Amino acid sequence: MSKLKIIKKIKIKHPSYSFYASVYQSYKSKSIRLFFKNEKELKIIIPYWIKNKDEIIENFLHQNQDWIISKALKLNEHKQKRENLNIPEAQLKYSAKTEIKKRVLEIAQKHNFEYNRVFIRNQKRRWGSCSSSGNLSFNWRLILLPKKLCDYVIYHELIHLRKKGHQKDFWQELGKIFPYPQSYRKMLRDFEYLF
Ligand SMILES: [Zn+2]
Repeated sequence: MSKLKIIKKIKIKHPSYSFYASVYQSYKSKSIRLFFKNEKELKIIIPYWIKNKDEIIENFLHQNQDWIISKALKLNEHKQKRENLNIPEAQLKYSAKTEIKKRVLEIAQKHNFEYNRVFIRNQKRRWGSCSSSGNLSFNWRLILLPKKLCDYVIYHELIHLRKKGHQKDFWQELGKIFPYPQSYRKMLRDFEYLF
């Protein structure tokens, strides 16, 4: 038997919001596991042979409470950010156009880059790109990123005007302004939920 059977639902209260932990009994699992299904539901899988389930679960929740609460808060925060985005999207896109173009110009002038035109687009899974004719495209969602990260994307694309591809010399050039550029790439991945 591999089917999971729900045996209990526990409400977990936190000052800012509450959520449920659903406890499932499994014939396959060898140990207790927990993961978030979404921001409102924590799933706990418990092996069927465990006795005193209530007590064990209570202890398990207690032991893992720091992780559970911080993870739940993070998921909830991400959800709220996504919801906030729905309301003023047209407005955001509009201000993205002027603000990003202005910032590109500032950075380009500071570091003597010459580009052709800047386009602000609604790209999927892309923060920016650079064409062989010297045009730059940026995702309007850049204005939702921390300023430093937004600058990283702009500077990254500006360097592509001089160096195509991501060879060693590209990263060296980028590293002059942004030491450890790989860490910025990682940070950008944290904002992929915006897409
Ligand atoms: Zn690149």
